[in-house]
Amino acid sequence: MYPDVIQRPCFYLFLSFILFSILHSSYSQVCYMNVTSSLLSSQQNFTAFETTLESVWYVGVSAVDITPPVGMWLAGYAMRDRPAESTIHNLWVKAVVLQDKEGNKGVIVGSDILGFTRELSERIKQRISKDLNIPPESVLLNSSHTHSGPVIENSLMPIYPIEGTDQIEKVKKYTTDLEEKVFQVVKNAVNNIKPAQVYYGKGLVRFAVNRRNNRESEIENQFEFRGPVDYSVPVFVAKLLEDDTITAIIFGYACHATVLSGYQWCGDYPGFAQEELQNKFPTAVAVFMAGCGADINPLPRRRVSLARQYGKELASAVEGVMEEGLEVLPSKLITRLKRITLELETPKSKEELEQIANDPNQLDYMRRSAIYLLRDLANGIPLRTSYDYPVQVWSVGGTPLIALAGEVVVDYAIYVKQRLGKNVVVLGYSNELMSYIPSVRVLREGGYEGDTSQLEYGMPAKWKESIEERILSAVESLWNEIQR
Ligand SMILES: [Zn+2]
Repeated sequence: MYPDVIQRPCFYLFLSFILFSILHSSYSQVCYMNVTSSLLSSQQNFTAFETTLESVWYVGVSAVDITPPVGMWLAGYAMRDRPAESTIHNLWVKAVVLQDKEGNKGVIVGSDILGFTRELSERIKQRISKDLNIPPESVLLNSSHTHSGPVIENSLMPIYPIEGTDQIEKVKKYTTDLEEKVFQVVKNAVNNIKPAQVYYGKGLVRFAVNRRNNRESEIENQFEFRGPVDYSVPVFVAKLLEDDTITAIIFGYACHATVLSGYQWCGDYPGFAQEELQNKFPTAVAVFMAGCGADINPLPRRRVSLARQYGKELASAVEGVMEEGLEVLPSKLITRLKRITLELETPKSKEELEQIANDPNQLDYMRRSAIYLLRDLANGIPLRTSYDYPVQVWSVGGTPLIALAGEVVVDYAIYVKQRLGKNVVVLGYSNELMSYIPSVRVLREGGYEGDTSQLEYGMPAKWKESIEERILSAVESLWNEIQR
């Protein structure tokens, strides 16, 4: 029996790598030999060999430093009154390319920024499509939503008091450089793909608190937390076949990256988690993916030590999954993306906007937000009544990976899991950042995420309640299409 056991897998491995060599002529024979001998030298039985053959992926990773210079404005908060003064740790964009055994590619990009605008995202995706032949549905741009990263051009501009200053030029230049860096990091990852196995598992960590139902000022005296939260920590790991080293750790959490609100560049808790994992696994690129944490905050907060602590807790949850919770994923990738129309209520009138703009009791950034829309009206640009919202659904070896755009409240993670099963990975902050994405519950309750945040995002009204079912049925229908 023993010789047969060895020969059959070797034959399939041989075919697999011949195919790989044809597809990627730069890949060397030496590497093929290494992979084969490494597998042969391990004490695996026949079943394990077959599993391995069915699960050969090709994975490439790359990372690029995107730390802005000090002196640039930080994104996410309206109350800041001066630019960044120093750096806690560097900011990064990281790319992981997954290619299945049939050659289907998917690119996952993680980034220490607040979010990609639609224009920026589309420019990046078009270039990847044109130059690297990877279509937009196969590119997933996620942002950690750190509130200690740089302002991106045309994103939430009314909230920053920088109009007419040299900050505008700095932001523009930074955004142009960022676009180039994201493309280059994806290109590098594509050029570095090697045979690997991909694993999936899920852990949990509990520093996320529903911020609509628990007051930050009372949190340290509170013994029961209210409101929905998604504590899950999805983890994808890629291990190279040639030497068994871990090359990629992709992990997520549904919680705002808002521990910090100062004047230092920092990836916040996701930055510390990525740093911690890369220190523990020096061969790996660790990539954070933000989940549906729009109404969730890390509480308590405001201290660097807490950002570091939560980062370590999250990294520890990821390590736990890596230690005993991973399953091999079959080498099959399917990617889909479609745009659906989300409708807004009737836009505020010119008179209503003027009232906000001229109200001395309004917050400065609310007045500026109204002024921005009034300017559009004066320039003949009609106020928005709907948005073509991108819904991206992948199957990564059978695991559903749902990437939703905007600041998505936690209800969506819960509802998608109720419909598609608890192992589904649901991300927010993906592909483009246009506003909050409230559920019907949050819309009816009112408050920041369902109502008042709209204006600062340039939205002249609340979303209609149809938003929830439109997104959920789009997710469901794309997943059904994938499974057919
Ligand atoms: Zn946010």
